[in-house]
Amino acid sequence: MKYINTKNKLQAVNFKEALFNDQADNGGLYMPANIPEFGPLFIRALSRMSNHEVALEILLPYVREFINKQDLMKLVENTLGFDIPLVQVEENIHALELFHGPTMAFKDMGANFLASFLSEIKKDQEKTRVLVATSGDTGSAVANAFSGKEGIEVYVLFPKDGVSKFQEQQITNNANNVHAIEVNGTFDDCQKMVKSVLGNKLIRKELNVITANSINIGRLLPQIVYYFLAYKQLSDKKRDVLMSVPCGNLGNLTAGLMAMKMGLPVYKFIAGVNENKMFHELLKYGQLNIRPSEKTYSNAMDVGNPSNLQRIMHMYNRDLLIMLGDIESLSVSDKQTIHRIAQVYKDFNYILDPHGAVAYEALKSNLKNYQTGIFLATADPFKFESVVRKAIPAFNRFNHIDMQQGHKIKIKNDFDELKEVLYS
Ligand SMILES: *Cc1c(COP(=O)(O)O)cnc(C)c1O
Repeated sequence: MKYINTKNKLQAVNFKEALFNDQADNGGLYMPANIPEFGPLFIRALSRMSNHEVALEILLPYVREFINKQDLMKLVENTLGFDIPLVQVEENIHALELFHGPTMAFKDMGANFLASFLSEIKKDQEKTRVLVATSGDTGSAVANAFSGKEGIEVYVLFPKDGVSKFQEQQITNNANNVHAIEVNGTFDDCQKMVKSVLGNKLIRKELNVITANSINIGRLLPQIVYYFLAYKQLSDKKRDVLMSVPCGNLGNLTAGLMAMKMGLPVYKFIAGVNENKMFHELLKYGQLNIRPSEKTYSNAMDVGNPSNLQRIMHMYNRDLLIMLGDIESLSVSDKQTIHRIAQVYKDFNYILDPHGAVAYEALKSNLKNYQTGIFLATADPFKFESVVRKAIPAFNRFNHIDMQQGHKIKIKNDFDELKEVLYS
């Protein structure tokens, strides 16, 4: 499989190059040159396959030049060790629960796969350094996934006072190859520093640096798998299926659209966004209005300028009308989010986290009663306890968990200080 640059279709690289050079020099991202299609026989066979078999078949065409079937199966078994259940919430609505991994958010799956794949294909002795900026979930998933992986040093940059206590604990309590770096600045400052390192050819080459942010194709591909796992578990496959995705950087939605292109029978995707509604406005008014991100209750989706939009535009040849045939969207306020969490708890005794609640709301506004809806529950509600408590006052659990003091390095918002840490 070749991977092409979204900003220059003539530039094609292989999977390893796409992995290590995740952002092309011109700011483009890599996408598979063609998306393999599976026929109705495969779709019908899904319910008889194990989760690992499904993952193997889906991923193999994308990576087969670098790993054989047996080794890929081992890798899949190691990375997909947790449940991905489809849970019925009301008559025709199901939750695909993606939060049963080690850090309780869906990013575990992509991060684990990237980590295992990197150590699998990294045959040389040279150290690889993985850099990631985080406002929470990405950092904890990446830190956990790479913890203890030989030959790989991980640097997680997070803003002082910008992540929750629980997330900080997840970032700072890992093996010695994971360096948690608390930056005296904002998330944007962290991201800028990561970009400066990646943009510096000398440092990049000397230190063998890659990033594990969601632009890396190695995090995106494994996400295709869980859409197939959702469909596999659906008992009534006769009705049209709508899948609703809570969107931030649009990585999850991109993977869903790829699943559809691969042959998964999805009638429509629904993109649920919060007040950061650039993608929604694009679909609705055809206009791209980039602005700084706003803080909301569903903070993993507080993205002003989603990086994976490039990939979606590329898939649809920049044709908005065709895109609208596959995707509906809705922007959901914090007030609606809280209201929905309270209502679903009261009526169905199911606890949504704020991100899942946005997807649920967007699904509700599009779903007809003769259709089946699946929404992605991307985080454990306990990770967002204080928000959930606004809707369900009796909700608490973490008060009983001891917070451990982890290890972290503190730096100023200063590129030279970061360089010092990287070279030491
Ligand atoms: C990252 C994240 C999202 C958004 O996913 P994207 O792929 O960035 O669109 C949604 N919910 C949770 C809990 C997340 O951590």
